[in-house]
Amino acid sequence: MKDPKKILVTGGAGYIGGHTIADLMANGFDIISVDDLSRGSMRMLHGIEKITGRKVKNYKVDLCNLEDTEAIFTENPGIAGIIHFAAYKSVPESVREPLKYFRNNINSLVNVLQCARENNINHFVFSSSCSVYGNAEKLPVSEDAPQREAESPYARTKQMGENICKDFSVPTRKFNVTLLRYFNPVGAHPSAMIGELQLIPENLVPVITQTAIGKRKDMQIFGNDYPTRDGTCVRDYIHVMDIANAHTKALQYMISEKNTERCEVFNLGSGNGVTVLELINAFEKVSGQKLNYKVGARRPGDVVEVYANNDKARKILGWEAKYSLDEMMDTAWRWELEMKKEMEAAKLN
Ligand code: UDP
Repeated sequence: MKDPKKILVTGGAGYIGGHTIADLMANGFDIISVDDLSRGSMRMLHGIEKITGRKVKNYKVDLCNLEDTEAIFTENPGIAGIIHFAAYKSVPESVREPLKYFRNNINSLVNVLQCARENNINHFVFSSSCSVYGNAEKLPVSEDAPQREAESPYARTKQMGENICKDFSVPTRKFNVTLLRYFNPVGAHPSAMIGELQLIPENLVPVITQTAIGKRKDMQIFGNDYPTRDGTCVRDYIHVMDIANAHTKALQYMISEKNTERCEVFNLGSGNGVTVLELINAFEKVSGQKLNYKVGARRPGDVVEVYANNDKARKILGWEAKYSLDEMMDTAWRWELEMKKEMEAAKLN
């Protein structure tokens, strides 16, 4: 018998996986996490425990190992749905080591789908990304925009992953899939007990907070000669708790059999395009910190401008982006301060 509240989350010790677990638990779901901790951290799961007052069981298993993955399902009968976050996600690393990305991101997905089939689990959410659009022709980009060539092996694993899920959810199989395309997830849980853990970040917001706190001496804006309103690139930043809540809503939608199609895809963005300079200004205003930044060369592979049409998620899932840009910056900054406090306390002990 399926327990509609029992959900398996892969990559539960990662940034989006962890915040999603916190949101699922706040909505009454019971969670089993699988994370090999190669990129995620137990610190995330401990933080969730502090927020929810409940322990999250994590299996430290590599999902590329089918036998070990199957054993988790045997040990935990009655799982109603799976959210699959576990994947490598660095664009530059994927350019350097494409096979590593194909091996990990594709094999793990195929294994988890096989376990879903073997255990009759029919609700599946796949972590996708706006990178599947490549350089979108029309903005804001909607779900039915034609997919262009992937800009990196990472983006290609997301395009391939979506197609694998689609092929697997043919009508005869009774397998429901929701593909969620994230734009730029930022910020942290409002409690500041969990957040993004990147030792050497590449993404803009952790680079900003690490510069402001002094972990880095300075930072660069990658190009200010783009054809945008202030010359810097435009992205759609979206609070990680808004992203998290969309997963809860997608599961509820499938479990209550509201979906009309076996495989549905939703953009998760705020719908607002924000330039790098606008984001930096919002950060400086909210934190009261002056950022030490320079303008440098363009970063290879960057798209000029992308932001979402999020009508579909709002209409069909009843989802909305609740956090403002200022709140994104405020939670990101308070999380950075919390990490500093923890590091200092650890030094004293
Ligand atoms: N960016 C920047 N300096 C940094 C990191 C990022 O100027 O140190 C810019 C980057 O060029 C892009 C935007 O910030 O225009 C968002 O980059 P991020 O890596 O966070 O996300 P992406 O949209 O590339 O996935």
